[in-house]
Amino acid sequence: MIGNVPVGGNSPIVVQSMTNTDTVDPIATVNQIVELWSAGSELVRITVNSAEAAARVSEIRQRLDDMGCTVPLIGDFHFNGHKLLKAYPDCAKSLAKYRINPGNVGKGNKRDDQFSSMIETAIEYDKPVRIGVNWGSLDQEKMARMMDSNAKLAEPLTSEALMREALIQSALESAEQAEALGLASNKIIISCKVSAVQDLITVYRDLAERCQYPLHLGLTEAGMGSKGIVASTAAIAILLQEGIGDTIRISLTPEPGESRTKEVIVAQEILQTMGIRSFTPLVTACPGCGRTTSTFFQELAQNIQSFLREKMPVWRSLYPGVESLNVAVMGCVVNGPGESKLANIGISLPGTGEIPVAPVFVDGQKTVTLKGDNIAEEFQRIVEDYIYKNYAEGGKLRSDKKIIPVTPISID
Ligand code: SF4
Repeated sequence: MIGNVPVGGNSPIVVQSMTNTDTVDPIATVNQIVELWSAGSELVRITVNSAEAAARVSEIRQRLDDMGCTVPLIGDFHFNGHKLLKAYPDCAKSLAKYRINPGNVGKGNKRDDQFSSMIETAIEYDKPVRIGVNWGSLDQEKMARMMDSNAKLAEPLTSEALMREALIQSALESAEQAEALGLASNKIIISCKVSAVQDLITVYRDLAERCQYPLHLGLTEAGMGSKGIVASTAAIAILLQEGIGDTIRISLTPEPGESRTKEVIVAQEILQTMGIRSFTPLVTACPGCGRTTSTFFQELAQNIQSFLREKMPVWRSLYPGVESLNVAVMGCVVNGPGESKLANIGISLPGTGEIPVAPVFVDGQKTVTLKGDNIAEEFQRIVEDYIYKNYAEGGKLRSDKKIIPVTPISID
């Protein structure tokens, strides 16, 4: 368990994200955490990089609790985590998990003491830890020792294979050390992140064979836009398909001004399109072609997907199961009616030169034909009506569910 979220074994694969606000600013951090959580992030990691940041963590937790936001917080520690966790016990208690990077715990003789100090705090407050190794911050002393030994072998490993082995050994040796200090094995999660797709697949296949710990998956420094999404998906989907991975994070670089929630949406869409978990009703849409010469069909598909996603924070409580709904928005009569019939609700728009009417299909049956200037609004109403009739318990709104406010807070 991480806070109230089960992780590992047969538990659902968990979506994680990370803030990019300064933790010293509790208002900005709380707002972003709520935004990520409202988008569906089930765990949120925050940077705890200074005394000022550590001093704010319990306040951030309290503000979230006051807003009804129960998402567990993970503290990301590098270099000074041992000092911060000891000096700020409220911070240590408020976090649901500590992320420890063995490459950034300390050098030489200090390393073991500092690592032990963090594990002792985890034991004291009954917290799980993620031993999170990254290629970019691999323990250089260890790497140097392994390179020396490798050079003496009759058949030395390639530098890539040696790097992968160093990552895995760093994670597993640290986990072993944590257990030797008294941390229960079910309080340990492992990650070994690299930025190249094939390396990530190889490393995690190897890790999964060599340990029983839950694994956190993610391609580190995935990049921006479609490159980041494609690279992350290519690596993570293969591993998930093989049953590897218990929590996932998509490390996208947001475009300037872009919402941080994109990484949550991508993670959910990977899991949902693979049929592993459902989060938000998905829209099936054709790519369009020479038969769709206006942008109307693209706009309708986009509007419906945005509408469904925006409604989900409230619908999730009101309409259990709505996340599995399928909606089809199709561009013309060629595949439109067929694909629309397969969805819960589908609309087949008129292609260029076709009669300007749009048949709507509900559970495979044609129910109405829309025409005129308000097709988008009318279709949206049909979707809402369907959700209300099919997912509200007893056909009416459930009053026992607390609706979480998602409006950003302002400075007191
Ligand atoms: S359904 Fe019609 S508009 Fe869409 S891609 Fe196929 S032929 Fe083109």
